[in-house]
Amino acid sequence: MKKDIGLGLKPPEGKCEDPKCPWHGKMPVRGRVFEGVVRSAKNHNTVRVEWGFHDFIQKYQRYEKKKSKVSAHNPPCIRAREGERVVIAECRSLSKTKHFVVVHKKGEK
Ligand SMILES: [Zn+2]
Repeated sequence: MKKDIGLGLKPPEGKCEDPKCPWHGKMPVRGRVFEGVVRSAKNHNTVRVEWGFHDFIQKYQRYEKKKSKVSAHNPPCIRAREGERVVIAECRSLSKTKHFVVVHKKGEK
């Protein structure tokens, strides 16, 4: 039986031996969850994920368009590539700049 990581998402098709995989390893996810687009997948098992949001500015009573970008761990069973929509979840720090992990792939954009 596949385990449920608690986000109501479908487990990936593939399998892996990665201890840092939230589905097959021993890595719990907690905290914030975002949906974004993979902007760079050059590093081994790491992707840069970017997503946009609107931030309300009190002074002007308007929304400002902003975007955010983080590094996320890309487990071998998900293998997200550049341009794909993914769901990332916050986890413990995996390295100096990595504290997110890709938990789901939404297919090509
Ligand atoms: Zn896995």
